[in-house]
Amino acid sequence: MKKTILAFAAGFLVAIGLVVFLALKEAPSTPKGDKMMDVYYPGTEELAPNEMRVVALGTGMPNARPKQAATCFLVELGNGDKFLFDIGTGSAERLSAMKIPMDYLDKLFIGHLHSDHIGDLDALWIGGVVGNRVTPLRVWGPSGAEDKYGTKYMAEHLQKAYTWDVDGRVGNTDTRGLSMEVTEFNYKQVNEIVYQENGVTIRSFPAIHALDGSISYTLEWNGLKFAFSSDTYPNKWWMEYTKNSDIAIHECFASPKILIEKQKFPPQTALNVGTQVHTSPAQFGKVMAEINPRMAVAYHFFNDYDTQPLVLQDIRETYDGAMSLAIDYMVWNVTKEKITTRMAAIDEDIWPQPSVLGVKPPDQSKRIGFSKYIWDARVNYSEVLKKIYDDINNEYGSNVELPK
Ligand SMILES: [Zn+2]
Ligand SMILES: [Zn+2]
Repeated sequence: MKKTILAFAAGFLVAIGLVVFLALKEAPSTPKGDKMMDVYYPGTEELAPNEMRVVALGTGMPNARPKQAATCFLVELGNGDKFLFDIGTGSAERLSAMKIPMDYLDKLFIGHLHSDHIGDLDALWIGGVVGNRVTPLRVWGPSGAEDKYGTKYMAEHLQKAYTWDVDGRVGNTDTRGLSMEVTEFNYKQVNEIVYQENGVTIRSFPAIHALDGSISYTLEWNGLKFAFSSDTYPNKWWMEYTKNSDIAIHECFASPKILIEKQKFPPQTALNVGTQVHTSPAQFGKVMAEINPRMAVAYHFFNDYDTQPLVLQDIRETYDGAMSLAIDYMVWNVTKEKITTRMAAIDEDIWPQPSVLGVKPPDQSKRIGFSKYIWDARVNYSEVLKKIYDDINNEYGSNVELPK
C-alpha cells in the first residue's frame, strides 16, 4: 500500500514537472518575424540578440502641443543597452510610456542645446529619480564656439537652477540618481568616437544649425547603423558619414508654405526658418536620395491630415526610397534582414517601473529641514498620523516610527 502511494506521488510529481516544463517552454516569448504583432505593446517584446528597436518619443516642432512632443528618439539594442538621443519638451511623458525601468535610461546624447531638444532634461534627470532611477544620469553633448555655448555650461546652470529642488529632496528620498555626469566633446570633431562600450560605438560630426555647436550622431552596433541629425542644414559630413545607414533620422521641417499658412509666419521668416535654419521637405528628399538608407525617417514637422500630403509630395519629387513620416510612438524594429515600422499602443495610466537596483530609504539625518518659524506652524493631527503609520507597518511588516 505504502509503495503504491509512493509510486503515485512520484508519478504525480513527474506530471507536475512536465506541465511546468511545457508551460515554461510555451511561455509567451518575443513575437518575431511574421508572428510580430501589428502594434507594439511596450514591455511585452524582448529584442532578439541581433535586433535594434528605435522609438520616436518626440517628432514635433519647437512649440508644444498634445499630439507631438519635441525631439526625442530612443534606441534599444539586443544586448540590453538603451540610448536616448535628445530630450525635447514633452518627451519625458512619452518615455514613461515605454515601461522601462529608469535605471536603464541613464545615457543621453544631445545634438544641440535648443529647448525643443533638451527641454525635458529636467524631467529626465529629476523626474527620473522620482521615477526610481538610482543610477547617475550620463549626458554627452557638444562644446560650443565659447564655453557658454557648450553642453557643460548648460548642464551646470540647469543644475544650479534646480538648487532648491535638489536640496529639498536630500534626506527625503533616495537621491543617488541626482548626480549628473557630463561628457562634453569638441563640436568640430569629424566622425570621432564619443562613446564605445559593450560593442556599441557612437560618433559625432558637425551639423549646421543656428550657431556653431550643433552636431549629428551615428550609432553602430552588430553591423547595424543608426544615424540621427538632430537639427541641421544639409551638409557634407552627413552625406559622408551616414551613407547606407540602416535607419537614418533627419530633420524635415514644415515647408515655408505650411509655416506661412499654419504657423502664421511672415514669408521672410518662413523662408529663413524653413529652408536656411532647418531642412525643408524638398531638401530632405535630396539628402536621403544621396545617402540611400534602408529606412529614411523624416521628423520635425506637425504631421497632420492636411500637412502630411504636402510634405510627402515635396519629398517624393526627389526621393523614392523606403521612408517613414515620423509621429510620436512610431517604432522601428531593425535587423539585417528586415525593418518593420509600427505604432506603439500605450497605457495613459502608466506608473513608474521599479528600480532594478533597489531604492534605499532616505537618511533623514541629511535633511536640511525648516526654519523654526515655518516648522512651528505645523498642525499635527497626531491620532490620524499614528493610524496611518500603524496600518502601513502592519500591512507591509515595516517598523517606521512616527516622527515627533
Ligand atoms: Zn534646433
Ligand atoms: Zn529642433
